[in-house]
Amino acid sequence: MSNINTSNLLIEKVESSKIKGVDFSNLTFGTTFTDHMFVCDYVNGEWQQPKIVPYGPMPMEPSARVFHYGQAVFEGMKAYKDEHGDVFLFRPDENFRRINKSCSRLAMPEFPEEYFFEGLTTLLNLDKEWIQSGVGNSLYIRPFAIAIEPVISAAPSESYRFMIICSPVSPYYKGKVKVVIAEHFSRSADGGVGYAKAAGNYAAQFYPTKLAQEKGFQQIIWTDSNTHTFLEEAGTMNVFFRINDTLITAPTSDRILDGVTRKSVIQLARDNGITVEVRPIKVQEIVDASNDGTLKEIFGAGTAAVISEISAFEYRDEVYDLQDLGSNSYAAKLKQNMLNIQHNLAEDKHNWRYPVN
Ligand SMILES: *Cc1c(COP(=O)(O)O)cnc(C)c1O
Repeated sequence: MSNINTSNLLIEKVESSKIKGVDFSNLTFGTTFTDHMFVCDYVNGEWQQPKIVPYGPMPMEPSARVFHYGQAVFEGMKAYKDEHGDVFLFRPDENFRRINKSCSRLAMPEFPEEYFFEGLTTLLNLDKEWIQSGVGNSLYIRPFAIAIEPVISAAPSESYRFMIICSPVSPYYKGKVKVVIAEHFSRSADGGVGYAKAAGNYAAQFYPTKLAQEKGFQQIIWTDSNTHTFLEEAGTMNVFFRINDTLITAPTSDRILDGVTRKSVIQLARDNGITVEVRPIKVQEIVDASNDGTLKEIFGAGTAAVISEISAFEYRDEVYDLQDLGSNSYAAKLKQNMLNIQHNLAEDKHNWRYPVN
């Protein structure tokens, strides 16, 4: 193995790449990882030497606090390659800001900006071959931070590990999803951690989602925890409703995650002359709109699927179907707009693309 010392970063390269064993035409989301990973530990009140090392298992004490108290946060972002082989990230500054916001909420130290960007771009350069060009192909990037101090008393950790791992993904169309509107379970609550990408938020969603799946639905539309009357998020995505020609989404709050896709969709819709209302939206409003035929679309927005269309929702044992607008839907148009910007196929008016050099 060769050790190269750049300004801050220690790089230990793999002896030989695993890439030849990977079938890029047959990828299952989140199961294949690139050759390298980024690691940086926080010890004695300081972030230590950041490193890039071969991807692989790492020893950890069973008493590491993350296993007991769930002190863990993460991010999800993507890198894209255009037809010239140039690599781009999409609004990575937003993910960087957000992981530190999540860290603060979980009583974890913030990660330094230079380490994040130097680590990320160096890692992407090393594993560039793993990014396939072509619209829809991308490299899913998972930065995360965990509490590693081997102490099981219930208190914040004194030591942490910040890591970045990468997984190649191909475009996948799972079809439209049917959702249940939550009337009992909640994803988040006032004063809680709903706005943070805390690992535990996901664990808490698995059980109610499993119950929805047993009833033949794929996801849950979360409502406010106090009254279950306001629509908040769809699964792990932000959610948009189109009534007539107006797009409506809930304002962010401490219960709702401030999604990068959400804010990009709002901007692109406005660029396209679509009226967007960011305001609280009641379940009753979409039930009424469905009954009088003015509810045209519902879709989720998030990095992994970009936009995920919803074909029906269930509320109080009644199922409400949505029409299939095909390529005339706002969802289809906005998704195409977004992919074109991400893949360097369209003008980037808002400076969202971040070239990786
Ligand atoms: C990550 C996430 C989103 C989507 O955020 P993006 O930045 O668009 O990927 C939405 N809701 C929840 C709960 C999330 O965890």
